Amino acid sequence: MAVTAKIKCFSCDSTFDYYFFLRKDEEIKCPHCCTQMDEQSAKKVIHAIGEFADTNADLLKYATGLKEPLFQFDLTVNYLGNKKLARMHGFKCSDDSE
Ligand SMILES: [Zn+2]
Repeated sequence: MAVTAKIKCFSCDSTFDYYFFLRKDEEIKCPHCCTQMDEQSAKKVIHAIGEFADTNADLLKYATGLKEPLFQFDLTVNYLGNKKLARMHGFKCSDDSE
């Protein structure tokens, strides 16, 4: 199952898509400002996206094979954090002229 996760980067206050089905690596980096998520957190996020995808796939499988009622779920995140905190630890692209 293809899942696109929306990831909010507070270093540059932008949101980017993370295409779960395309990625084999365990790196999450903001394409706008090049800020990279630490390796441990990236692993957790990718694992969570995988669990999300697997659960929806299982719900579909149960509905198809076992004639259970079909449910699919989505998530909406109310982001916590703030820009000032993110900028304290953010990294900039080397070619960023800001
Ligand atoms: Zn960014």
